[in-house]
Amino acid sequence: MRENGMSSPLNGLQILTWFLFPYFLIGYICLVFLPLLPNLSYNLPLGIAILLTALTAVYNGYRACTLNPIDPLLKENLEAVPQIRSVGGAGKKFCWVCQVHVSDNSQHCRFCDKCVHEFDHHCAWLNTCVGSKNYKQFFKCVTLVFTFTFLELVGFTILIVRWFIEGTDSSIRSEVKSLYGGTDGLTFITITIVYYVILFVTVTMIAQLFFFHVNLKRLGISTYDYIIKEARENQKRQRERAEKGKKMREEKKLRIEAGQTLVCEPCAGGMWFGGSQIAVSLGDPSKMSSVRQEDSENDEEDHVDSNKGGEEEETLEMAAITVKEKETGL
Ligand SMILES: [Zn+2]
Ligand SMILES: [Zn+2]
Repeated sequence: MRENGMSSPLNGLQILTWFLFPYFLIGYICLVFLPLLPNLSYNLPLGIAILLTALTAVYNGYRACTLNPIDPLLKENLEAVPQIRSVGGAGKKFCWVCQVHVSDNSQHCRFCDKCVHEFDHHCAWLNTCVGSKNYKQFFKCVTLVFTFTFLELVGFTILIVRWFIEGTDSSIRSEVKSLYGGTDGLTFITITIVYYVILFVTVTMIAQLFFFHVNLKRLGISTYDYIIKEARENQKRQRERAEKGKKMREEKKLRIEAGQTLVCEPCAGGMWFGGSQIAVSLGDPSKMSSVRQEDSENDEEDHVDSNKGGEEEETLEMAAITVKEKETGL
């Protein structure tokens, strides 16, 4: 059983996050903050805001990662010496893996091998479950990461726009030259644009996660509830589609067996179909004949021709008269 995100086994995504924070901070300092150093009026407040939000994000991420979101009944059971016998009751359910009664709103996580109270999801980036105990820290971390990366994006946009608008007279170009050497700053701006694209993709992904959780809060449900709801709705849609298809096939089969003509619904009402095709049901259904458009070659399944011999011509004539009558309102 894993206690928190720092318990073994660690995972690759979690280790990646340890490098991403310094990467985003050092990248911003080298590519934006230092070249914009003479413009302290907006560069300094932006830099301080980024640093503070990034450090607070790291703190909340660390808290979310190291808190243990275990189910309190399971925790109590594990800590009891000698181990107490688990008793069920209202608001409880039995976990067959943990072999104890846990809270009704807990779920067993197979990665952490324990029941998590008010389970939201297992976060691969933090390598721990997110539940009632650490959801607040998790959400703060996501919000702050979104904020600081977005602010970085603003800083990068200012630098890149100024670089190209101000041209060779730009104070940024002379600052870059004194910082990193070179003559035209081509290497600098190429690296900056590549970094900007990576940052833009990162901000987009984090924004999706942030707004997803904002929406969950608005709906008052957890990620787990949302996934289950989506899966059930998908299943329902698939079942409905399958039932509809089955019903249509059965109806078609019955009509064929009964020797009835198959006409599409609009046609059955004596309406134009496809602009030119007509199929009109005339009088007594037992004597009903169909009209098949002569040039229709692809609708054989839907429009079965049950006419025989000269009846077709007669029916066509009658159908044409009926449609004409409807058109002229007679
Ligand atoms: Zn369990
Ligand atoms: Zn977990």
